[in-house]
Amino acid sequence: MGRVYNFSAGPAMLPEEVLRKAQEEMLDYEGSGMSVMEMSHRGSVVRGIFQEAEELLRELMEIPDNYKVLFCQGGASLQFSMLPFNLSKKGIADLLVTGNWSEKAKSEIGKFMKVNVVGTSKDRDYAYIPAIENLTPDADFYHYTANNTIYGTAVNVLPETNAPIVADMTSAILSRPYDVSKHGIIYAGAQKQFGIAGLALAIVREDLTLTPAENTPTLLKYSTYSDNESMYNTPPVYAVYLTSLVLKWYKETFGNLGNVQKHQVAKTGLLYDFLDQSKLFKPFVDKEARSTQNVTFGTGDKELDKLFIKEAAEAGFVNLGGYRTIGGMRASIYTPFPLEGVEKLVEFMREFEVKHHV
Ligand SMILES: *Cc1c(COP(=O)(O)O)cnc(C)c1O
Repeated sequence: MGRVYNFSAGPAMLPEEVLRKAQEEMLDYEGSGMSVMEMSHRGSVVRGIFQEAEELLRELMEIPDNYKVLFCQGGASLQFSMLPFNLSKKGIADLLVTGNWSEKAKSEIGKFMKVNVVGTSKDRDYAYIPAIENLTPDADFYHYTANNTIYGTAVNVLPETNAPIVADMTSAILSRPYDVSKHGIIYAGAQKQFGIAGLALAIVREDLTLTPAENTPTLLKYSTYSDNESMYNTPPVYAVYLTSLVLKWYKETFGNLGNVQKHQVAKTGLLYDFLDQSKLFKPFVDKEARSTQNVTFGTGDKELDKLFIKEAAEAGFVNLGGYRTIGGMRASIYTPFPLEGVEKLVEFMREFEVKHHV
């Protein structure tokens, strides 16, 4: 079997060109006689790779100069914990809770701060985006999850608040233009939209790096990263290298994030259009809340869902099983996922429906 269409929610498909380039450069990076994996982070080659990744991010996302671009580890999950150490002053944070990842952020932030839930869609299994109510006038920050990877919904509104807005953009970053200047912090694990596990990106407004709580562990302070070019200790060099390749691919393939958005809307639109007219498959979330990244759906019959997932895998469409607590199916279609894969999936679903709908 050759390469399959991998609908995994993360780690997820990388552009084939990127994998080939990495393969080509694996043993001898640009005539250095060594692999990027074997290089010191103190050398000029690795510095160059970090600078290139940062410049590409700044260009694609139009990141203003007063924001730091930081390469961290510990995934998006460690960012949940870094927030209180760096931002807590009054000790209260406003949170919009729209899925499992928001719940996890809430529980980690809640270990060190009071959390005020300004909206939650838990009552209907996170199938919609709730209204934002009762913001705290002097909250230390407002936190939301831009794309709910597990449920397949997206948050596209920001509140009117004086608090810095913090976004978990792990499955959303680079999928469309976001106004960075309206945010205090944007963070994301790399393995969904722009690279491999081991790297977490934090884009932090400069003033928010300046006043961590006393006795904050060194690696939990944003200033440790911003003062040391993200190289206080050994950084995940190979993961940053792969990210630089993926970002180059974004630039060459799309030019800008407006074009990425069109690509994402076109791909997931094919699947949503099919679901909207299907008599067998039903989408799980409200139309207005739909994600351009993760599409959730089911037949309403557990056994039939199982059969679909099995037959799809045999046909080369893998990892279509929904998250373990909600069941059904989930197709994760991040930017590198090819259009052709969605077209073929829809065709496969159409045939499955003909066979199984009574
Ligand atoms: C995957 C995911 C995470 C967790 O990322 P890690 O890098 O594994 O810690 C957090 N938030 C969202 C929205 C995600 O999709």
